[in-house]
Amino acid sequence: MSILLIADLHLNEERPDITEAFLSFLKDKAHTCEALYILGDFFHLWVGDDAMGDFEKNIAKHLKKLAEQGTKIYLMHGNRDFTIGKTFCQLAGCKLLKDPFLTQFYRYPVLLSHGDILCTKDIDYQKKRRFYRNPLVLFFLKLLPLRRRLALAAKLRAQSKSKKGTKPEEITDVTPEAVVALLEKYKVQLLIHGHTHRPAIHELTVNGQTVKRFVLGDWEPNGMILKVTPTGFQLEPAIG
Ligand code: MN
Repeated sequence: MSILLIADLHLNEERPDITEAFLSFLKDKAHTCEALYILGDFFHLWVGDDAMGDFEKNIAKHLKKLAEQGTKIYLMHGNRDFTIGKTFCQLAGCKLLKDPFLTQFYRYPVLLSHGDILCTKDIDYQKKRRFYRNPLVLFFLKLLPLRRRLALAAKLRAQSKSKKGTKPEEITDVTPEAVVALLEKYKVQLLIHGHTHRPAIHELTVNGQTVKRFVLGDWEPNGMILKVTPTGFQLEPAIG
């Protein structure tokens, strides 16, 4: 009996090693779990379901196979794949979750997030996020021809890359105050997220209570995933 959580695979054709690792993970670990949660940045880049190629369809096919074997699959958007839509989800047999998402694993209420909403010191990024995640903007983005969307994605990526080098570490990590505020808002003591690629289990005290923040890792080269069983939470390598 277990629930597995993964994030930040950044799947793309140029990294067959990561794709291979993911497929081994599906075969070796995921097929025995009751639910798989993918907490964002599953794909390195997503410009729309209509741009899916063989690579994306093949990943969807493998997820669908897992779903048909009885594992429930949930997907949350990351900052790189926030335009994943219904077409992909139907192909992959997964359900899209909003960010943040409050749920319960066995007897534990938990809050799930990709994690980028917690990096509040990166004001530039949060401004852009608010703009591009606005439903109206998303609606018009989806109407743009594919080549315009690809050009826009390349531009945003170049901007983010040129800024990343100049940003101090604490800006690209979560802001402690944002973590506390989110946990208080949802009245929950467990938070699971990815995005920062800094896998760890953090313990902190909020209003006199011990709360835990689980951070998933990226897949460079082997993912750090979170396994939840009725007896607890454990970070472990995706393979082996
Ligand atoms: Mn991310």
